[in-house]
Amino acid sequence: MLSKTEIAEKRIKKLFTLAEEELRKRNLNRTKRYIRLARKIGMKCQYTLPKELKRKFCKKCNMLLIPGISCEAKLNKKTIDIKCFNCNNIRRYSYGKKN
Ligand SMILES: [Zn+2]
Repeated sequence: MLSKTEIAEKRIKKLFTLAEEELRKRNLNRTKRYIRLARKIGMKCQYTLPKELKRKFCKKCNMLLIPGISCEAKLNKKTIDIKCFNCNNIRRYSYGKKN
C-alpha cells in the first residue's frame, strides 16, 4: 500500500512531466495550471517538494522553468540567476556548495 505522501509524490511528479510536455508545445496556461495543481496537492498532503522540483518552477507565476524556453539561466561566480520569461521575476541560487 502506498502512503499518502507517496501518492502525492507520484501525482506531483506526473504533473511536472505533463507541465513540461505542455510547455514544449507552448501551452503556457496549461503548464501553469499543472504546476499550480502540483503545488496544491503538495500543500494538501503536507508533502514538501524536493529541491530539484522546487527550483523547476517560478513561485510567483507558477511557470515551469526550462532554460531557453521559459527562463534564462545566468551563471555568476557563485550564484545562478534564473529569470522567468513569463513574469520577469529573477531568483538567485548559490551552487557548488557541499554540505
Ligand atoms: Zn514567473
